[in-house]
Amino acid sequence: MRTDNDSWDIKTGVGSTALFVAAARALGGRAVDAPARDPFAELFVRAAGPEWVDLLEGRAPGHPLLTPDFGVQFQQHQIARTRYFDDFMAAAAAAGIRQIVILAAGLDARAYRLAWPDGTAVYELDRQQVLEFKRETLAAAGHKPVADRHEVAVDLREDWPKVLRDSGFDPEAPTAWLVEGLLIYLTPAAQDQLFDAIAGLSAPGSRVAIEQMDLLPAEAVAAMSGGGDSGSDWVRMIYNEPRTESTDWFAARGWTGERIYLTDYIESLGLTPAGEGPQQQSLINLVTIVRP
Ligand code: SAM
Repeated sequence: MRTDNDSWDIKTGVGSTALFVAAARALGGRAVDAPARDPFAELFVRAAGPEWVDLLEGRAPGHPLLTPDFGVQFQQHQIARTRYFDDFMAAAAAAGIRQIVILAAGLDARAYRLAWPDGTAVYELDRQQVLEFKRETLAAAGHKPVADRHEVAVDLREDWPKVLRDSGFDPEAPTAWLVEGLLIYLTPAAQDQLFDAIAGLSAPGSRVAIEQMDLLPAEAVAAMSGGGDSGSDWVRMIYNEPRTESTDWFAARGWTGERIYLTDYIESLGLTPAGEGPQQQSLINLVTIVRP
């Protein structure tokens, strides 16, 4: 069960979700028709311990990331959202934006992986131990960021805008914000606070990309809760509560946006939604919103 001031590292609590999604990206990127690839994901997973190496090397049959009713869908979900947000970053760069903020960056390696124009600053916000694991793992493998990368160690439930500004962020410059895999780990009130902060720090021309999830039906929660596995751990970590829909929230403040359900997005890439059984992934939607 979550508390208002709980903490974690890369292998515990909410931090472990960063490792889990990195593992899904590593596996999902192996498909011949993968819409994106993130070679750094595999480095993180290998650094996390032998049980994770076993997963990558096919010695973990029955692992949740491999099951047909969840794992295969989840791999596709992660690698498809990678593509969506990579394209968002490319469009922001093409529009002249040179300031990027990745909220709850986890093991997002875009500062190392994407073709940033010269002079691009990437601010990565997450808990200190998560950011350290990323930096140390990539440094040990000889990788360097290809943008001007700033680690901003914060708890997003606290006064992170001040820490961000103190780290060099310029509120007068247009910014591209990324909120990927975060909102369900925040209470609805903390989400609204996050949106307030983003809007308050966004110069005209800024944009934000968001992954959000519709409410998980009670029967799905009940089915997952009893399992004593990673699904039940996850249900205990999220706030499955009614919350503001992001395009509405920003539209009320003059921003214009669009959103697409993940399954429609996967089809728009010429792919078929993967897996069998209940499509939890069908609740996910991807959003891009621009401040005029
Ligand atoms: N955005 C990354 C990605 O898509 O690969 C990571 C997503 S991971 C599912 C969730 C991340 O949110 C974790 O890295 C966790 O540490 C971070 N997170 C959740 N709540 C947070 C908070 N209150 N403050 C800072 N980071 C938080």
